[in-house]
Amino acid sequence: ELAYYDGQFISIDEKVIPIEERGHQFGDGVYEFIRVYDGRPFLLTEHLERLERSSKEILLTPSLSKEEITAIVEDGLQRTGLLEAEIYMQFTRGIAPRNHLFPHVPSQFSMTIRPAKVIPSEKRNGVAVLTLEDERWKNCYIKSLNLLPNLLAKQRAVSQGFEEAILVKDGFITEGSSSNVFVVKHGTLYTTPATNRILHGITRAAVLECANRVNVSFQEKDMNMDFFLDADEAFFTSTSVELMPISRINETSLPRERPITASLHSAYKKLYAKKISF
Ligand code: PMP
Repeated sequence: ELAYYDGQFISIDEKVIPIEERGHQFGDGVYEFIRVYDGRPFLLTEHLERLERSSKEILLTPSLSKEEITAIVEDGLQRTGLLEAEIYMQFTRGIAPRNHLFPHVPSQFSMTIRPAKVIPSEKRNGVAVLTLEDERWKNCYIKSLNLLPNLLAKQRAVSQGFEEAILVKDGFITEGSSSNVFVVKHGTLYTTPATNRILHGITRAAVLECANRVNVSFQEKDMNMDFFLDADEAFFTSTSVELMPISRINETSLPRERPITASLHSAYKKLYAKKISF
């Protein structure tokens, strides 16, 4: 485990954030979460590009270039010696006396590197999800630090014995509290269109690339509850869980056979085993 703050590597439990830091006081910042497989950060370019886009959308000027961040990531990985790791990084709008207006100070970059979480193998047989009203704002494509509605949804789902909350806006599935959602029906793969209602998941894009490779046809589609409940297969995706099969939606069980999910997941594993970008 290792952290990076204000230009230096530090221990992860060091107390370093000043009281008047805008990420801490306002959630005024953006972040990324990256998986390292066999010592290599998977789809790092895609994550750094999304971080750049998120920054731009909130009018934040990153204090480091993508190349500088890459060098810090590589340095950090070497220092930890971890091969299977997860990297969290964020930019905040910096340190300044609390004021809603933007300060004229440099943005602050920080990062943590931890061993990758191990997913219990029984979860790979499928997990239950709870659908909840999507209470978030209109710019969910920005990976902003403001995650309170996501936290509340996840907490509610897990406290009721579910693994993930699937959010529903105006009758249509948007995404999970920290994941994107896919449905398979009659051999076709469906996922929510990449609009401002969802985060454009890097894993989501990788799974669509996998669908191409294994010749599964796919369509971006606004899916209502009836469509979701009637799925032949369903799964959610994220950097940390890869593809997670859904065995039950609320009280409705889905079929146990999941040939397309299995084939897409094995194609996904090939992507990171080959350490390629696309
Ligand atoms: N949607 C939301 C709301 C998320 O928080 C995440 C994970 N950060 C995802 C989707 C999945 O994104 P990715 O595949 O890039 O991890």
